[in-house]
Amino acid sequence: MTPLQFQGIGMTSQRTRDRLITRLIEQGIKSHAVLDVMANTPRHLFIDEALSHRAYEDTALPIGFGQTISQPYIVAKMTEVLLANGPLESVLEIGTGCGYQTAVLSQLVQRVYSVERIAGLQSKARERAALLRMNNVKFQLADGNWGWEDEGPFDGILSAAAPEKVPPELVAQLKVGGRLIMPVGSEDKQQLVLIIREEEGISKQYLDAVRFVPMLDGIQK
Ligand code: SAH
Repeated sequence: MTPLQFQGIGMTSQRTRDRLITRLIEQGIKSHAVLDVMANTPRHLFIDEALSHRAYEDTALPIGFGQTISQPYIVAKMTEVLLANGPLESVLEIGTGCGYQTAVLSQLVQRVYSVERIAGLQSKARERAALLRMNNVKFQLADGNWGWEDEGPFDGILSAAAPEKVPPELVAQLKVGGRLIMPVGSEDKQQLVLIIREEEGISKQYLDAVRFVPMLDGIQK
């Protein structure tokens, strides 16, 4: 049985969550696997209690340190695109933040490697991961511009922070056939890009216009 704190009541209840799922479907999300996982992942546990009544609105919300939890539609869209060619074994996530996207991924792929540059966010995300028994996730405090070479190459890479250009180190850590989805561009003009590593070279496709926090350099203790 699901523990009470995960179930939620009122504005965090299953009914409220189901309304969010209906909205995601209306916006074009088709993957049943992604929708099921999002219907059952308690987003309210990833944000400050004072904001938990807004946890199932389709909106980004502040999580401290000037960062935001990604909008549910964007989480769904990026996850759907990442998984569109079948199941993935290992996925590198850049920008753990509060760990919500990490939690969604951890239920859909075999192993998640999640990198965050802000220590305060990472430690909280680790606590939540332990609470929710996400045993297939490895965290690292690091600058995601460099990927996570020791654990690569990966079947998938997903970034929630936007660099001006895709870092070549990330493409280099994709397996052949591996998929990378991330926002790229300046702070006021970004687009999601999907890169697939081919036997020789890559293929590249631009998707939705988006607005993410910028990918910054170095770590913040
Ligand atoms: N999926 C997360 C998104 C958080 S916002 C969530 O829903 O909570 C993006 C995150 O990327 C922020 O936490 C920010 O600190 C982090 N970030 C920015 N640049 C980074 C970098 N170079 N390496 C790792 N993380 C980075």
